[in-house]
Amino acid sequence: MSNARVVVVGSANVDVVLDIDHRPGPGETILGSDVVVTPGGKGANQAVAAARLGGQVAFVGCIGGDDRGRLLRASLAGTGMDLTGLRVVDASTGTAIIMVTPDGENSIIVSPGANRHVTPAQVDALRAVWAGAAVVVLQLEIPLETVTHVARRAHEGGARVVVNAAPAAALGADVLAVADPLVVNESEAAYLITQGGKGDGAPPVGAGTPIGAAPTAPAGVAGTLLALGPRSVVLTLGAEGAVLLGRDDAGRPAAPVHVPAHRVTAVDTTGAGDAFVGAVATRLAAGDSLEQAVREATAVSAVAVTRRGAQDSFPTLGELDTH
Ligand code: ADP
Repeated sequence: MSNARVVVVGSANVDVVLDIDHRPGPGETILGSDVVVTPGGKGANQAVAAARLGGQVAFVGCIGGDDRGRLLRASLAGTGMDLTGLRVVDASTGTAIIMVTPDGENSIIVSPGANRHVTPAQVDALRAVWAGAAVVVLQLEIPLETVTHVARRAHEGGARVVVNAAPAAALGADVLAVADPLVVNESEAAYLITQGGKGDGAPPVGAGTPIGAAPTAPAGVAGTLLALGPRSVVLTLGAEGAVLLGRDDAGRPAAPVHVPAHRVTAVDTTGAGDAFVGAVATRLAAGDSLEQAVREATAVSAVAVTRRGAQDSFPTLGELDTH
């Protein structure tokens, strides 16, 4: 059995970023900038964020036997995390092609590749890595059936299950029921509120648009999310911070708590949510309350937004102390 306290089961992608003047139209060829290739993927990002904070972390995921896979492995290994669960499969490493226009807007194409191989069978074969974890972290860039399977098994095994419902997808009631917390940003929250109980994972028409009668104030949104069944909810609000909402001993909603963001000059918010989730997981595994964990994660993600990149921007514990 691994002695990792935090196990992240999820995606690993290489981000290929290039600047363009405008998006190419049908049949059009344009010239872009030189490409910048960086390690990414929500799962890998969250594992790196957790490990930088001194957590005992293991990552379970799949890469291809190509140069991009080797880049990802090197980045993850640099944090000292347990990579017994990082498998090389017969597929291309997951890749995100990110085109950024001068207005700062980006268009992204994700090729999931090896991430599709993070199947229930694959994860079960790696049970020794995640059995006994204090906290298991899941996001939705791997097959939803794997998320459902691991959430159920990890919960049965006594782990606390952190579910980051990103990118937005409908979750089954059984996953929601063990999420503690369910972590979402505002657009993911809107998606879950309109689609939450359906659980088929199919992208609905009008994704991300709240239904007419849905509350828009953060505490109300958090309450609506809690009513979907999770044990607790953290709604992240970008520069406005986050709202957390738990339950009392009888399972009734507790009072929502707003944790304001730190005031910083943001230069790149890529990976802010991943830094936040990784930090929450590490602090929960260390025995913090959810509110303490969210306060710490708020400090961690504030540092991350002041630096460029995703994994490269995540602070170590030492950097946090001096921030
Ligand atoms: P995501 O990256 O998933 O869209 P958010 O944008 O809500 O998530 O950001 C996650 C967390 O990162 C926020 O709760 C906040 O603590 C922090 N954060 C994001 N943007 C800023 C910012 N401009 N200034 C300070 N903190 C920020």
